[in-house]
Amino acid sequence: MPTYTVPYAALAAEASLLKAELMGAFETVLDSGHYVLGPQLKAFEGEFAEFCQTKFASGVASGTSALHLVLLGLDINDGDEVITAPNSFVASAATIALAGAKPVFVDICPDGNMDPQKLEDAINRRTRAIIPVHLTGRPAKMAAILEIARRHGLFVLEDAAQALGASLDGKVVGSWGHAAAFSLHPLKNLHAIGDGGMVTSQDPDLIALLAKSRNHGLANREQCDFWSFNSRLDEMQAALLRVQLRHLYDWTEARRSLAMRYNDLLRPYVEVPDEGPGERCVYQTYVVKAERRDDLKQYMNEHGVEALIHYATPIHLQPAAKNLGYTSTDFPETMKHVGKILSLPLYPTLTHEQQDRVVETIASFYAKN
Ligand SMILES: *Cc1c(COP(=O)(O)O)cnc(C)c1O
Repeated sequence: MPTYTVPYAALAAEASLLKAELMGAFETVLDSGHYVLGPQLKAFEGEFAEFCQTKFASGVASGTSALHLVLLGLDINDGDEVITAPNSFVASAATIALAGAKPVFVDICPDGNMDPQKLEDAINRRTRAIIPVHLTGRPAKMAAILEIARRHGLFVLEDAAQALGASLDGKVVGSWGHAAAFSLHPLKNLHAIGDGGMVTSQDPDLIALLAKSRNHGLANREQCDFWSFNSRLDEMQAALLRVQLRHLYDWTEARRSLAMRYNDLLRPYVEVPDEGPGERCVYQTYVVKAERRDDLKQYMNEHGVEALIHYATPIHLQPAAKNLGYTSTDFPETMKHVGKILSLPLYPTLTHEQQDRVVETIASFYAKN
């Protein structure tokens, strides 16, 4: 594996800043002897709900599980359809299929998120729900999406895996839809030391259902109401997450200020992700659109800067989606987008010197090409 002057992520460096607090939390749980469904999870759920300005939050094993369990709770049947964006991580669509419905895609806006103007064409009498994705930490056009959903009586599940703390018109993601799914994967802005996920909702019935569906369908020790998964967020992770949640606001501000600095410095060379009106983005990924993207990426990687693509193959063209019958001409905006996107290193511990190195590498590529 090559070593980079500017690696894409720096998780260990980040963890080292909180090491004493994390070790303290670890020891508290270790000594408590209580390792699943205990006081740490309960406290974390309360703090997470408060952060998202929702009544409830429910901890689960992953972001994928959060999406999946909410969809299963909708009682989806064979032949039902759920709409999402093709430009996302595969789990946004996989969980629709795993819940027994058909994933249906709509094209995106130039900002990378679902285009509400194309949404209505994808709705028919089999449609049950819409999953807008707040990709890269930029909120989707929630007001327009919710208005369409309301008119058609559809459930809205926000895929907020990348967007904890983002807001639109002052209202945070996770509080817009009927429910939202968050990922606590190591590369997400708030992350477990491993895997984890959260569901937020204002609906007590949905949260009561999740309490069972994440825990074998058990209503109590003796009674199993329905077959389900073991998909819990354990006490150790909850305790470690509580430590990090206390730092999330500051770390998000650090991400945002680095993103604005990138925007200023990179504007002469590439298309930068300016925020739209009312948007507060949290930059889980900092994505530019670049001419000769593949050559640029290779050049950067050869010059010590790790750049990645999220995601090079849109979901509708994955081998797993073959039976859905989509082709590469279906979503022109998505195809234009995926040909140009490039994710640059951005994390709270990134220094201005490292950032300057990224900018200089990009500048020198375009000077030579
Ligand atoms: C990370 C992610 C998921 C899946 O979350 P996991 O915790 O990895 O299961 C789902 N959707 C999006 C958009 C993601 O980025």
